[in-house]
Amino acid sequence: MGVRAMVLDAPGRPLRAAELDRPLAGDGRLLIRVEACGVCRTDLHLLDGEIEVASPPRVLGHQIVGVVEGSGERVGVPWLGWTCGECRFCLRGRENLCERALFTGRDIDGGFAEWTAADERFCFPVPDGQPAVQVAPLLCAGLIGHRALRMAGDAERLGLYGFGAAAHIVCQVALWEGRRVFAFTRPGDVEAQSLACALGAEWAGDAAGPAPEPLDAALLFAPVGQHVPAALAAVEPGGTVVCAGIHMSDIPSFPYELLWGERTVRSVANLTRADGQEFLALAPQVPVHTHVTTYPLERANEALSDLRDGRLTGAAVVEP
Ligand SMILES: [Zn+2]
Ligand SMILES: [Zn+2]
Repeated sequence: MGVRAMVLDAPGRPLRAAELDRPLAGDGRLLIRVEACGVCRTDLHLLDGEIEVASPPRVLGHQIVGVVEGSGERVGVPWLGWTCGECRFCLRGRENLCERALFTGRDIDGGFAEWTAADERFCFPVPDGQPAVQVAPLLCAGLIGHRALRMAGDAERLGLYGFGAAAHIVCQVALWEGRRVFAFTRPGDVEAQSLACALGAEWAGDAAGPAPEPLDAALLFAPVGQHVPAALAAVEPGGTVVCAGIHMSDIPSFPYELLWGERTVRSVANLTRADGQEFLALAPQVPVHTHVTTYPLERANEALSDLRDGRLTGAAVVEP
């Protein structure tokens, strides 16, 4: 029986609708009927060749919610698909940095398909209560956003640069933790700004302009290098600027004065399984409500171009 899927053949080309063989389960791999798969900015970087897909054709998609064939159990499949367990990073509890890691939807076929297979050790249990399309964005946007938020320490005044899938989730968690949120969007992105305010951000405005008041930390989700000096200028001494994306345009040079005062610039890479367990337990307590735009599987290219052009608010999700 053929499996409908959207595959990447080469960078710069739209995904191609294909019929694939059903993936093989067994030997620790679960066969999963995909209910929903979130679309991530990383998928655009893969599509554009900014991150290499080593052996195409490849089924993209790494925010998968589906049902395990046989057991009927509902699981989530994240970006981290496999780690070696023995390199110096794995041994120190930093499997997000594993030297031989394999990533879902880059090195392993992902969730833009009716069926997928995943290493059960890297799947998370997902409760039945919520619709799959609502849960899917938690698996990367939510997880990476949460890891980035932890890097901000106890910052009270939090700037979010780029208010898409990740930021709209982080915003809810940060407010629940008692922080104050300031949302910085593309110039004139009224929809993203009004979503931010509806979720409880106390200010929303253009990322190109100044912050309304000094910040304690800034999380950068937009892949725009110019935001780094802008965010450094916005944070107070001791503040942290966290770059949460996997790829970013070059950071322009800036005067040392912007870093002076024990400000920190750092990145966040991938996730650990502990991040996933922690965040998926936290999300229902907040509770996090995701705002999603859904697309049928065959229209995955449209979802990607809407994400690229900022035509959607919140998160994009494809449904087989
Ligand atoms: Zn992602
Ligand atoms: Zn390793």
